Amino acid sequence: MKIDGHSFKELCELCEKLESTSSRNAMITLVSDFLEKLSLGELAIASNLIIGRVFPVWDQRELEVSGATLVKVIKRIVGVDDRVFLKAFNETGDFGSAVKLLFERRRHLRQAMLMTKPLSIEEVHRGLEAIAEAKGAGSRKKKERILEALLSRASPLEAKYIVKAILGERRHGFGEALMEEAVAKAFNVPVEEIRRANMLTSDLGLVARTAALEQLQGLRRLGVMLFHPLRPMLAEKVETVAEALREHGGEAALEYKLDGARLQIHKKGEVVKVYSRHLTEVTDSLPEVVKEVREGLRAQEAVVEGEAVAIGEDGRPKPFQQVMRRLRRVKLVEEKSEEIPIKLYLFDLLYLNGERKIDEPYMRRRALLEEIAGTIPLVEVIFTKNVSEAEDFFKKALEAGHEGVMVKDLTSTYTPGVRGRKWLKVKAGPLTLDLVIVAAEYGHGYRYKWLSDYHLAAYNPATGEFEVIGKCFTGLTDDEIDYMTRRLKELAIAERGRMVLVEPRIVVEVGFAELQESPHYKAGVALRFPRILRIREDKSPQEADTIDKVKKLYEKQFKLKSR
Ligand code: AMP
Repeated sequence: MKIDGHSFKELCELCEKLESTSSRNAMITLVSDFLEKLSLGELAIASNLIIGRVFPVWDQRELEVSGATLVKVIKRIVGVDDRVFLKAFNETGDFGSAVKLLFERRRHLRQAMLMTKPLSIEEVHRGLEAIAEAKGAGSRKKKERILEALLSRASPLEAKYIVKAILGERRHGFGEALMEEAVAKAFNVPVEEIRRANMLTSDLGLVARTAALEQLQGLRRLGVMLFHPLRPMLAEKVETVAEALREHGGEAALEYKLDGARLQIHKKGEVVKVYSRHLTEVTDSLPEVVKEVREGLRAQEAVVEGEAVAIGEDGRPKPFQQVMRRLRRVKLVEEKSEEIPIKLYLFDLLYLNGERKIDEPYMRRRALLEEIAGTIPLVEVIFTKNVSEAEDFFKKALEAGHEGVMVKDLTSTYTPGVRGRKWLKVKAGPLTLDLVIVAAEYGHGYRYKWLSDYHLAAYNPATGEFEVIGKCFTGLTDDEIDYMTRRLKELAIAERGRMVLVEPRIVVEVGFAELQESPHYKAGVALRFPRILRIREDKSPQEADTIDKVKKLYEKQFKLKSR
């Protein structure tokens, strides 16, 4: 049976080939040959789908299909129960492959398939769009129906990749950077131009289409687009202010590093939209920020960046979580904005009245920002060559309850999405605790056979219990995880799905940024950004840090912060 446009099957087969190809260049050639033969519409879709994305980065649409919903639909189609599904998952290690396996076992599905028209790339994408766009009352049922219709027409292989697209699961190592190379190769343009255009527009599909249609000339016309959020520039960590200053050639700008939520704000006339660090629109959660920018910013069109912090009655910043809570809350905003006032401090300017500013040096951007900021405060800054002055400023930042300082190269341009050394962050030293592993979970992706996520607990000498205060999956090398998996399996007491409860025997030293309030744990506190530093073979579980010590540490944080 004939289909309109290229079949989705071809795209799936390409992804399978990528999974079994390890050479970078071979992968790029495979993809660029594929892209070349697509229509413009297909090209925009495929350049995202292949790297595990349904929509461009700036696009706010989301599928909002949970793993549970997916399981439900799949169980219905293939007629299996939870146990069979879980078994398939454990055999294959990822959701997409499990679905393929289950589809293959179902002969009646295969026969039904022969009767239907094969799916095209554009049809699959339209289906996914329809799922994302189902909103409001009854939307979950509607999403399920669309998904079911789509999957019932899919072959096992196609089902695998539809599921992977929905979950954002990707096994092959072909990511965004390689896709940029494949697009460049397919349409014979320099890869730097593709990267630049992608960085500015956050829309790889648009970039690929432009490269195909208008080559270099078209690409060069692409710039920062209002209401297309850019990926944020990121900072590297260094241990001391002196080191940071040295790295920037002896002179730099030091800014307070506020511990809140990063916001990128786009303004065009009266229209203001606010995006989070992950480019999610949070405009409706922060009406006071919108109002302040709409009324205060002296620019017709601008893209500015800043940090939103929650401020206590004593004028000190509150823990970071309180801001995050505000970002997540869309309903009840009126009530909540009274409860936790949010204050915006600006630190960068990316676009102004039709002109992109990211190529200007830091000093120029800061000066322009000061000119247009109006009533909105900027983060505190000093420009200095003097190490002891820099150290005093760092101390002042900590005393005021902030996280530390950002040390910025005076001549640096703004590089979206890049974690470089032009911005260096210096924070107070990491805190550490010796904690006991009481449970572990099998990991994701290539770690699916390893127990790589650990539940960490502090000792309570009064009850003899170990109380969990966090979960951690970073810090150990693959060899250490392998070793840990073997040890933990010996200590296993019970299994709960992919989680294994173990005897509390292994002590690890854990570094973390701070303790935060948590309703999930009995102790009421949780580790923020935990990382295993080493396995403490020398310590018994009873020698681990106590819950009492954890609570004292938590209280101590509030000497400098507001509650
Ligand atoms: P980190 O999340 O530890 O990598 O630190 C980078 C984050 O610090 C940024 O994403 C911002 O949210 C935040 N931040 C706070 N103050 C500043 C500042 N003055 N300049 C840039 N980023 C800042």
